Amino acid sequence: MKECISICGAGLVGSLLSIYLKKAGFEVRVFEKRSDPRYTTTHAGRSINLAISHRGLHALADAIPGLDEEALALAVPMYGRAIHDINGELTFQPYGESTQHINSIGRTALNELLISKAEQSGVRFLFNHTCCDYNATRKQWKFTDINNTLVETESGEILIGADGAFSVVRNFLSRELDEKPVVETLDYAYKELDIPAAHSDKLINRDALHIWPRERFMLIALPNKDKSYTATLFLPIEGERSFNTLNSDRTILDFFQTYFADALKVLPDLYDQFKKNPTSKLFSVHTSVWNNSHTLLIGDAAHALVPFYGQGMNAGFEDCRILAEILQTKTQIDWEKIFADFFIQRKQNADAIADLALQNFVEMRDHVADAKFLTRKKIENFLHKVLSEKFIPQYTLVSFSDTSYKEAKNVGILHNTILEKIMSIPDIESLWPSSALEKQALQIANRYV
Ligand code: FAD
Repeated sequence: MKECISICGAGLVGSLLSIYLKKAGFEVRVFEKRSDPRYTTTHAGRSINLAISHRGLHALADAIPGLDEEALALAVPMYGRAIHDINGELTFQPYGESTQHINSIGRTALNELLISKAEQSGVRFLFNHTCCDYNATRKQWKFTDINNTLVETESGEILIGADGAFSVVRNFLSRELDEKPVVETLDYAYKELDIPAAHSDKLINRDALHIWPRERFMLIALPNKDKSYTATLFLPIEGERSFNTLNSDRTILDFFQTYFADALKVLPDLYDQFKKNPTSKLFSVHTSVWNNSHTLLIGDAAHALVPFYGQGMNAGFEDCRILAEILQTKTQIDWEKIFADFFIQRKQNADAIADLALQNFVEMRDHVADAKFLTRKKIENFLHKVLSEKFIPQYTLVSFSDTSYKEAKNVGILHNTILEKIMSIPDIESLWPSSALEKQALQIANRYV
């Protein structure tokens, strides 16, 4: 008889993982505390759309050939950042070469696609089943449905915890193994605001991720397939300009008029939305306990990160692909060995992308509008054009390749050293580009790469 595996959480990662495990020959059932998103209208209350890039698409295609294309049919390409300065002037910063793009996709639409594909392949979903308890001695996970009926996994049955950033499976595991996860909370929160399709034509450049960088805070907007946008305000929780001080129609209006005047024109029901939509905290979770003999954490449950590199889901999808790859290399299934191999490969990469995501927050918020940063980007692009594979920008490695996050982080450190040296050439900002400076920049870069 085929071994049965249970997954806790039918979010993005749990649903994709179920497809991989079914394909590997296991009987798979997925417990999900929410009801089936295909038959409900409310969304989970968290980021309506997100950016899927190379790693995510690779994992989809690897699970089912053509699944990446099906996902892309639901998405809007974003070729770069459309930066709105305080006067409403727009500049465009490409993400890479002219054809390279990331993709804005609806969370619910993608989740529904994955659940349907998994079901078609024979995965069994148990919606409205919440993981509520764990018996460490008997190695059993417990779930209750809406009628409080208890369902238990078999003793020792493999359970994969794909239950997200607030993972209950992680909580039980860390209690059992006496290891407290580290939750790094930012002093920032975010709020989503809908830019309706009827107003969105005022936001020119649909094929871009829009950013209003204002140093200590920022607004971003990702396009949706129906021509609307989902904007997200990232702001300190407390302080002079913070969610705490935006507590009346007057303060909200003043704030948007001062800092996001052009965005105000596309947000017709700003006050209502501001009051109605939740304000959510931003945090990363680090834990060195991802498994015991019969349980493994994956996706956000293992490594929740802040959203500024657009990589949380992509990293979770890559987790699924790598776990399946490890499984394939084994002639005999030894789960403890498989989980240990997975942890060794993925933990260092999860830590690297968590760091990069924090760094990218500072870049998006403080630097993208800065003249020095723009010159630096131009030099970076020039070096990539001339040195090609020897100098691939970190963003390209993270978003458009399978290069490990750890390696991408190290490359970023090296490139930073090179670019700092080049940027210290007197008057480079006003004189770039010139053939003399290009030659000098290449000489510096060639010393390192
Ligand atoms: P989740 O999507 O959280 O799914 C967990 C599932 O488990 C849910 O369905 C939940 O209902 C279920 N569950 C929870 N507890 C239980 C329980 N006790 N019993 C049973 N079921 C349970 N990532 C990107 O790659 N690109 C982006 O652009 C991007 N933007 C983001 C923007 C924001 C504002 C945020 C907050 C995140 C963003 N992310 C992005 C990150 C991305 O959302 C997550 O990395 C991704 O959702 C993780 O998927 P998951 O399946 O691990 O967890």
